Amino acid sequence: MPAASSIHSGSRRSQKKKAPENSVAVADRREPADRARPQKVGFVSLGCPKNLVDSEVMMGLLARAGAELTTRAEDADVIVVNTCSFIESAQQESVNTILEMAGHKATGNAKKLIVAGCLVERFRDQIRKDIPEVDAVVGTGELGKILSATGVAPAAANANSPFVVLPSRPEGDARAAQGRFSRDSWAHESPAGALGDLPNYLYDDTTPRVLATPRHMAYIKIAEGCDHPCTFCIIPQLRGQFRSRRFESVIAEAEKLAQSGVREITLIGQDTTCYGEDFGLQDGLALLLEKLASIDALRWIRFLYAYPNKITGKLLDTIAAYEKICSYMDVPLQHASPSALKRMKRGGGAEVFLKSIAKMRRVVPDLTLRTSFIVGFPGETEQEFEELCDFVREAQFDWMGAFSYSDQAGAAAFSLEKKISPREIERRRKHLMSIQRLISKKKKKALVGREFDLLLEGESEETDLLLEGRTQMHAPEIDGKVFVNDFPEEITPKPGEFYRCQITAAHDYDLVARIL
Ligand code: SF4
Repeated sequence: MPAASSIHSGSRRSQKKKAPENSVAVADRREPADRARPQKVGFVSLGCPKNLVDSEVMMGLLARAGAELTTRAEDADVIVVNTCSFIESAQQESVNTILEMAGHKATGNAKKLIVAGCLVERFRDQIRKDIPEVDAVVGTGELGKILSATGVAPAAANANSPFVVLPSRPEGDARAAQGRFSRDSWAHESPAGALGDLPNYLYDDTTPRVLATPRHMAYIKIAEGCDHPCTFCIIPQLRGQFRSRRFESVIAEAEKLAQSGVREITLIGQDTTCYGEDFGLQDGLALLLEKLASIDALRWIRFLYAYPNKITGKLLDTIAAYEKICSYMDVPLQHASPSALKRMKRGGGAEVFLKSIAKMRRVVPDLTLRTSFIVGFPGETEQEFEELCDFVREAQFDWMGAFSYSDQAGAAAFSLEKKISPREIERRRKHLMSIQRLISKKKKKALVGREFDLLLEGESEETDLLLEGRTQMHAPEIDGKVFVNDFPEEITPKPGEFYRCQITAAHDYDLVARIL
């Protein structure tokens, strides 16, 4: 792990003990008198919503097996850290959190510390070796093993976990043959993590889930893994080949969620626009959205992580045709210079993207468009960066994120020459964000006076004098906020309810509204 071993060594080395050989089966280590009560399990979920769904599945499996879930790490018998390993800063955050939680074994109730998720796929045996407080590790394809890892249920219970060998796509098989999913370059650091089987797990509608999101919204993971060859990305090695959940399973889960009070559903996957291709479905995402729109109790349905060249006319027509399907597209473009995109093995460029964006806006009126870019990719020239800046000025995105390129061992870009210095990468990132800030400011100002439906989230996290909510233009957690500072005397606004509101003021990214 990048800075893990160095952080953990030193003063903490004296606590070192030999890690158990078996990575998952850990007995109940509580005092005999305590064993009569359910084990209390605390979760820390890091990273993206896809990882959050994995945490929700593990919590569901544990709750069904009789564990009590707690939000207080100091009360937990077992602490699970579900980690992220996307880029180095995410790995570092994961390691810091593991070490912080390890402290509860010394000072709190905790008898066990379990590490799950992407960091395990990357550094499986190194985690055990360098952080001896960790009792077990659970990879992204082994969620069912959380039961025996925590000691909540015996290893035999894992046999009931919903492991199925899922079909793959010819594109993924071809990429596998070319070495896209190979973890060999990690072998010298963490042989077991590097050489373990690629994850091939996906939950279904029968898998229990404990939602960690507010009661009115939920994510549904419709697919897992990724077959694309992007040279900066190690997600395919961490999450395996692309595979979709069965159509009926997604619908059944959405129906169940709607019955339990969920009003907004966000479909996720590494690439949602490939949904269904592995079982021969064309326009699978559009068909799925259409079917979900027929579930009465759902009010908003959206999807994230569209791949640019997979956005079909049918998908756009479907978004435009149904009021419940949010007029919202999240299309990470990563760059706009054709030469940089070629090195990223993504294809496309500003000209193609602008045509495609024009079509999206033509077919879907009032479309909210989000994207993200990577700046400082190896060999990114000033001219390529300028092409990106010009493109951002012209495309006028509603929301945009800019990420600094981060070198990842195992990614094809790792061996590319002409690396950009971190300082220059940061300069470029800030510059790109400053262009977007002005665009965002102008776009938000143009919304003043307009009316929208608002899903009230509750008290503002920033001040209890304001309420906070979202419109169709705001995906959960990633976009700006709508602060509510006024509502009619006769109503008591309730979180999870929809209200008609009018935008009264705008900031760079956030809006202020009053409930009508
Ligand atoms: S499409 Fe996304 S997840 Fe897949 S390889 Fe590219 S960046 Fe990674």
